[in-house]
Amino acid sequence: MLNDADRIYQNLYGQQDWHLAGARARGDWSGTSDILARGRDAIVEEVKSSGLRGRGGAGFPTGLKWSFMPKQSDGRPSYLVVNADESEPGTCKDRDIIRNEPHKLIEGSLIAGFAMGANTGFIYIRGEYYNEAARLQAAIDEAYEAGLLGKNAAGSGWDFDLVLHRGAGAYICGEESALLESLEGKKGMPRMKPPFPAAMGLYGCPTTVNNVESIAGVPTILRRGAPWFAALGRPKNSGTKIFCISGHVNRPCNVEEELGTPLKDLLEKHAGGVRGGWDNLQAVIPGGASMPILNKEMCETQLMDFDSLAAVKSGLGSGAVIVMDKSADVIKAIWRLSKFFKHESCGQCTPCREGTGWMMRMMDRIVQGKASMADIALMEQVTTQVAGHTICAFGEASAWPIQGLMRAFRPLVEQRATDYQPPQPLAQAAE
Ligand code: SF4
Repeated sequence: MLNDADRIYQNLYGQQDWHLAGARARGDWSGTSDILARGRDAIVEEVKSSGLRGRGGAGFPTGLKWSFMPKQSDGRPSYLVVNADESEPGTCKDRDIIRNEPHKLIEGSLIAGFAMGANTGFIYIRGEYYNEAARLQAAIDEAYEAGLLGKNAAGSGWDFDLVLHRGAGAYICGEESALLESLEGKKGMPRMKPPFPAAMGLYGCPTTVNNVESIAGVPTILRRGAPWFAALGRPKNSGTKIFCISGHVNRPCNVEEELGTPLKDLLEKHAGGVRGGWDNLQAVIPGGASMPILNKEMCETQLMDFDSLAAVKSGLGSGAVIVMDKSADVIKAIWRLSKFFKHESCGQCTPCREGTGWMMRMMDRIVQGKASMADIALMEQVTTQVAGHTICAFGEASAWPIQGLMRAFRPLVEQRATDYQPPQPLAQAAE
């Protein structure tokens, strides 16, 4: 179990003061100008060697992503954009960082902005996070008043402005290029890539988009050193992660733990265990709605990190752990996710626009016991025609829950199909 001293988020539960004074008492904003004095390249190298991987879902190495930004400006400004459009069902970690540790995010934005040569950063926050946006704005105002943002930010000699922007509540705006479109005032629709944002992002300028948790952890990593962070977790899966544990556990919670922690420990030590005991467990979605579901057998020995979950064809995603005990209808749960994805498709590419509706309707029939074995095979085929054939990763996000259901709960799905009684012709039914 992670030592309290190794927790990045000492005020995750909001028991202490979130204001600048409280943040400073916890060590935030101490020696920020010294960190910037190390220079751009040294900061990028340190973040690279810490092994930090993006905490939003994709798990791409953060330092490497920063290194794609141009070293010399061609006349265009560079931008940092922080993705606070936390919308993946089950995920509520960025919300607690913003509520209770906003200065970690602001200080991290300054450092990351400097490391990528950006004098301006934007934080794009989902519209429903109204109270969180108000608090974050208050913290940004405090930072400006204290000289930590703006001209010569934190006495570093670097000018850095931070702008908070509220979205309007579309799930797809969490996809980085849709987020940039929305930030530019257009409809939030993903862009074709390439060009990637580091070459042509916000307003056609070099841009890096990072998740809140990735950025908020950076100041602590640079203060305590890359070796400290790299020693936590497992090789290539280093550091700590905030897990959001919800569903059929005794104490749903957000908790910061080392990557690579066994799933069973995570549930039993932090969430009071599965409702009715471990043997009452039926399934876990380990990384937010789009990550494939695991059955109990898979959960017994599962480690919670990027590579261990990828090895069982699931994923760490956003770290949202959704637990279902034996009272849950897992087929219906996945149908509900299909309904969500159908609703959130931006509609710009055909396999996604048509496929999500098709998958939802077929799941509906399976739930009601009105699908045959042939329908199940057809639905699996549809998922493969959606995933990998779309502009953005939403295609995979909508297909993976169903594919995961088929891998982990195939006998259950087939049972419902074999119980199916096709409608009889009227004359025959009357006999
Ligand atoms: Fe839009 Fe879906 Fe295509 Fe993504 S995959 S661009 S959400 S239609």
